Amino acid sequence: MTEEKNTAGWNFDNSYARLPEPFFTRMSLNPVRSPQVVLLNEPLAASLGLNAKELGGEYGAEVFAGNRVPEGAEPIAQAYAGHQFGHFTMLGDGRALLLGEQIAPNGERYDIQLKGSGKTPYSRRGDGRAALGPMLREFIISEAMTGLGIPTTRSLAVTATGEPIYRETELPGAVLTRVAASHLRVGTFQYAAQWCTADELRTLADYAIGRHYPEAASADNPYRAFLDAVIKRQAELIARWQLVGFIHGVMNTDNMAISGETIDYGPCAFMDAYDPATVFSSIDTGGRYAFGNQPHIAQWNLARFAETLLPLLHEVEEQAVKLAETAISKFADLYRNFWLAGMRAKLGMFNKEPEDEALIHDLLGLMQVHKADYTNTFLALTFDDTRPGVSALVETAAFGRWREQWQTRLGKQSEDWEASKALMRQKNPALIPRNHQVEEALDAAVNHGDLRVMESLHTAVADPFAHSPEQMTYASPAPPSACQYQTFCGT
Ligand code: AMP
Ligand code: MG
Repeated sequence: MTEEKNTAGWNFDNSYARLPEPFFTRMSLNPVRSPQVVLLNEPLAASLGLNAKELGGEYGAEVFAGNRVPEGAEPIAQAYAGHQFGHFTMLGDGRALLLGEQIAPNGERYDIQLKGSGKTPYSRRGDGRAALGPMLREFIISEAMTGLGIPTTRSLAVTATGEPIYRETELPGAVLTRVAASHLRVGTFQYAAQWCTADELRTLADYAIGRHYPEAASADNPYRAFLDAVIKRQAELIARWQLVGFIHGVMNTDNMAISGETIDYGPCAFMDAYDPATVFSSIDTGGRYAFGNQPHIAQWNLARFAETLLPLLHEVEEQAVKLAETAISKFADLYRNFWLAGMRAKLGMFNKEPEDEALIHDLLGLMQVHKADYTNTFLALTFDDTRPGVSALVETAAFGRWREQWQTRLGKQSEDWEASKALMRQKNPALIPRNHQVEEALDAAVNHGDLRVMESLHTAVADPFAHSPEQMTYASPAPPSACQYQTFCGT
């Protein structure tokens, strides 16, 4: 066993499994027939101190499919609750196992989770399994988010199980090995507030503070500092989603991480033409999680989080409610400031001018009216050229006038155009993982066993600010026939 640790590089600690009993269930494994690693994220493995060579082979397949417990791991399923589309319910890891926390060479602690690893006591309905396509999809989109510099859980490997799973049709099964700062969710706190003792809730909060917000521990009111810090991180996270046109698709409170990472890639997708009403998820019929609604929903989720902390915020309930309300009311300004700062940078602005916000909204308004591609509009401005999906916009007189106003605005700062252009290159990605390209890569991988399309896409999205000629081949929005793109839950 010691030999195994030395060669694969596992360095597990299991701090979550030392929390009080109600927070998890210890699990034995649900082995699968013939596991095979389909994709391994070698740079990520290296940064975790893991041996990619070892993990790409038979041993890795066994560990990643949940056939073998790696040295030092203590598999558990985590308990949590959550508001799903506004309705509160008990949830938990219904198809995932936390193997433990890998302590990386840089000293950081990362959850290693197997998603699609079989039934748990929290499964209720469902087979506890996942299909190859959606796991590859989470891999590519989470790695694209990493490339974009947006906090996110990551994908270490996708492992085919060699077993079919049954949805509308028979599909090949797979397990995703997910890496996260932690899997603590707003829903974990909702679970504690609803079903655990006051002491257990406090223990959970202290654990989260220790793991993600250690500076809050020394504040006058550590739980208030914790709440403020979570709100701030979420405000920044959502702003960064909005700046790249990312739509999470299922912002239930169980899918909001306390760490501030993007988590649970289900029916998510990137927007092509700018429209705040964009929804891709087939189950989001009311548009609750539409692009333009994401900041509002984040604030709603954070209000649910704040409610769970009331007993810790102040011993007098009325005071606690006041503290929570004050904290939540700051979200809108925090979000707006992160977003404005990001938009200014996308438009090459270094300083602040009073007209900036109106100028930005004017551009977005024009983009919406002319159905301009969001990503490519910013690229056309950066490189002063034309791009796929923007011609209907840039040919209008209104856009010409807007561009003049923008140039006048840039003239008010001391930096020259070259400096603005350099900033815009750093802030406007050359590409996003477009839905039709992701689908093409998934089709090749799942239906033809060809991983090359996926690997090329992975390489391209991993460094979106390179602005390399190869990346230009990924710049086109979907042809109009593919515009009714839909994503499906039950992934
Ligand atoms: P999600 O929509 O991925 O956030 O999942 C919501 C809840 O459903 C979580 O508690 C999952 O563990 C559970 N779940 C999703 N898919 C399955 C499945 N195939 N089998 C059992 N539970 C599942
Ligand atoms: Mg979830």
